[in-house]
Amino acid sequence: MVEDIRFEDFHVEFPGKDGTATVANHISVTFEKGKITGLIGESGSGKSILGMSILRLLPGSAKVHGHCYYGDEDLFLVDMKRMRQIRGKEIAVIPQNPSEALNPIRKIGNQLTEALLEHHLLQKKPAQERVSQILSCFGFQEANEIMSKYSFEMSGGMNQRVISVLGLACKPNWLIADEPTKGLDAIVRNQVLDVLKKAAKETTGSMLVITHDLKLAERLCDNICVLYAGNILEQGKGKEIFEEPKHPYTQGLFLSMPDRGMHPIKGYASERNGAINRCPFAERCSYKMDICEAEFPPEISISETRKVRCFLYA
Ligand code: SF4
Repeated sequence: MVEDIRFEDFHVEFPGKDGTATVANHISVTFEKGKITGLIGESGSGKSILGMSILRLLPGSAKVHGHCYYGDEDLFLVDMKRMRQIRGKEIAVIPQNPSEALNPIRKIGNQLTEALLEHHLLQKKPAQERVSQILSCFGFQEANEIMSKYSFEMSGGMNQRVISVLGLACKPNWLIADEPTKGLDAIVRNQVLDVLKKAAKETTGSMLVITHDLKLAERLCDNICVLYAGNILEQGKGKEIFEEPKHPYTQGLFLSMPDRGMHPIKGYASERNGAINRCPFAERCSYKMDICEAEFPPEISISETRKVRCFLYA
């Protein structure tokens, strides 16, 4: 049965030579089943940390605290046997950079059927038929021909579609797509958008899309979480956030979009060491007040569906 994914007090630090870097700061958030949620923000905002932690895919050096519930189960506490059942079968990842994720010395067909065989869902022949059927859904007319190819024989867009088929092969309840349009040209980006829409239809429609591609997020996502420096600064319905962003960071992020003037936010996010006792966006914010330098802003509900972490709405 498909369930919401719910983080409670999720906190991640990486120890380093110059101290401990906080990459997720006590985040509590629920991703609704049946909805596509976009995690957006600049590089280093913590969106991939949040997404990849669900399947415990963070590097071993990460110090992870808090909880990630899938139904009643805390995914941070389940044993590896259970985690292997969940990975691919219940929650699947479409990794970024398909050319790297696919093994160049194994035929596509073998890689695609492997997940079905590994989870003992099907025998080899029906597994190949299932994969062939999904390949057709994703626009590959000659599925058998594709299954006999290697990844280096195909274009970036074709590999992106193949990696999406890999994510979908076991009919997972949840899909996590990690930077699905990174490094792709405009034509292939549009193909990826179609792929993800199809993927939502093929599955329960429960999806997390980690992306710096704001246009993709605007066209695809039901809900949006805006991350900055390891914090969620704004969350709500995608349509309302893109129509009327409330947080100064979200406003700045959108003004950097080509069709909204392409005005980048001044400055850079600074390193986060130790406890954060001020607004993380204060040094770049034009609306900064004294309190913003003295206290960490609370998360404020400004409507039934909208939350903003900013003193302007206190
Ligand atoms: Fe700007 Fe203050 Fe709001 Fe932070 S809390 S975004 S500094 S106004």
